[in-house]
Amino acid sequence: MGPLEILKEGNQRYVCRILNPSKNNLKQSAEVVCKDKPFAAVVTCFDSPVSPETIFDCGTSDLIVVQVAGNLINDGNLVRLEYAVQNFDISLIVMVGHDQCRIVQAALKGEKFLSYLPGLVKGLEPAIEAVQEKSVDAVSKMHTRLTTEDILGFSEVFREKVDNKSLQIIAGFYCSDTGRIEWLD
Ligand SMILES: [Zn+2]
Repeated sequence: MGPLEILKEGNQRYVCRILNPSKNNLKQSAEVVCKDKPFAAVVTCFDSPVSPETIFDCGTSDLIVVQVAGNLINDGNLVRLEYAVQNFDISLIVMVGHDQCRIVQAALKGEKFLSYLPGLVKGLEPAIEAVQEKSVDAVSKMHTRLTTEDILGFSEVFREKVDNKSLQIIAGFYCSDTGRIEWLD
C-alpha cells in the first residue's frame, strides 16, 4: 500500500470513529502502518483542531508534521520539508487546510491585535482574490490549493522529484464535523 492509500484508509477509520463513537471497529495504527521511519510529511495550520496523526490514524513517528500559521510556507518550513523528504526518502507531502480557521478569519476581518497579521494577509491575498465567496472556508480551501502549487515553485528539490515521479504533493481539507479529509485535485 502506498503512503496516500495508508493516509486515506487511516482517515476513513477516523471518520468511522467520529460517526460511530460507540463502536470500536478500528485497527490500531501500529498494526496498519508499522513503518520504521516517517512515510509522509503533513503541513497543517497551527490552529487545526486535531493533529494529523489523529486525523490519519497514524502513529506519532509515522508522519513529519510541519505546523504553520495559515499554512503559509516560509523558508524555515521549506527547509524542514526538504530535509524530511531527502533524509527519510518521503514520497508524499500533504498540505492540510481546515474549516473554521481562525487565522484566515482574522486575516479576513483585519483584526488589529495580531502583530503578524500584515504578513498573513499578504500571504492569503491570492486566495482571497481567487474566490468569489469571501467565506473563511472558501478562502482556506483555495489557499490550500494555491500553497500546494507554490511549494513546487519554491523548491527545486521538489520540482525534480515531482518530475521524475518520486514525490507527490497534494492538498486536503479537514472538515471538523465529520473528521473527513476532502482531497483537493
Ligand atoms: Zn487554521
